[in-house]
Amino acid sequence: MKHLLDNLPKLNEWLKRRDQPGFRAPQVIDWIFQKRISDFSAMSNLPASLRELLAAEFETLTSTIVTHSTSDDGTEKLLLRLQDGGVVECVLLREENRRTICVSSQVGCAMGCVFCASGLDGVLRNLTAGEILEQMLLLQRLLPADERLSHIVMMGMGEPLANLDNVLRALDWASSPEGLGISARRITISTVGLPAAIQRMARIDCKYQLAISLHAPNDELRTRLVPVNEKIGIEALLAAADQFFAASGRKLTFEYVLLQVINDHESHAHELVELLKHRTVLLNVIPYNPVEGLPFKTPSNRSIAQFKEILQSAGIEIRFRQRKGDKINAACGQLRRQQMVELS
Ligand code: SAH
Repeated sequence: MKHLLDNLPKLNEWLKRRDQPGFRAPQVIDWIFQKRISDFSAMSNLPASLRELLAAEFETLTSTIVTHSTSDDGTEKLLLRLQDGGVVECVLLREENRRTICVSSQVGCAMGCVFCASGLDGVLRNLTAGEILEQMLLLQRLLPADERLSHIVMMGMGEPLANLDNVLRALDWASSPEGLGISARRITISTVGLPAAIQRMARIDCKYQLAISLHAPNDELRTRLVPVNEKIGIEALLAAADQFFAASGRKLTFEYVLLQVINDHESHAHELVELLKHRTVLLNVIPYNPVEGLPFKTPSNRSIAQFKEILQSAGIEIRFRQRKGDKINAACGQLRRQQMVELS
């Protein structure tokens, strides 16, 4: 079966070849994105014969929900098995009137950040644009009819900039009015920091927000935590980030996972100030979400507050991401990891 979501750009052509009028493709797209209907047989304004033709060739949702967990704070997480057996996760977060989804871009991850659950077993493959979009639709369908998705973060499993073409194809549908209609300003692509891909985003005038996972203020420490840094270096990363900022004019976000003793010292905060003080950035500090089997710890509230104080008094704009859904292992890769451990 073909994945309809991977064939949306060809749908018009496919329908034309079957002598269908030009308004059929927009009708199908309207059912899927606006009416939240995936089953062709329920698309009541299409002729029955066409519904059968579509159903014989395409599937809209191709993955199986392995687990669906809900936590007290309203966070819901899906563990999905793809057609080829690959497993990915995606999350719906509820915060006041925000309905944010966190979506995966790859099965596993090749970046190997030492504190992250997603990369522990390497990468199996890139997700197709359809598989990325499918996560968004499955999460959309968890909402009551009068609620809409408001934000997307590409912060699930995988490195989105290592699969940029498919990520951008999926986000085109997420941001277009015929698709999910989510403003590009509310869509964030989070990256470990691959300069060539960041430069490409600057060149193509990419309209989404960029968040860069910095996690350390110097190369020695960053290479220990984020091994791909060895071949990149903070200087080249910041140069690419500056290029993106110059091209887009939009404030960049840097992410910093606080790991007890490792990168939460006062001296780290001061070094970070030096890197960021002349840049228009938002620093997103994330207290570590512990991963079973890994030796890292969340810092104490006191050292988190101290870290925050040093950056704030230096005039760096800073935000603390609240931990949400940690009871259901909502941090990237944790649920899949847990399942792999249980199965092995
Ligand atoms: N590959 C992308 C997306 C990864 S997930 C990237 O590197 O940005 C989004 C963020 O969560 C990244 O900053 C990542 O480093 C961070 N992260 C990974 N594991 C974490 C954990 N256990 N606790 C807190 N943050 C974590």
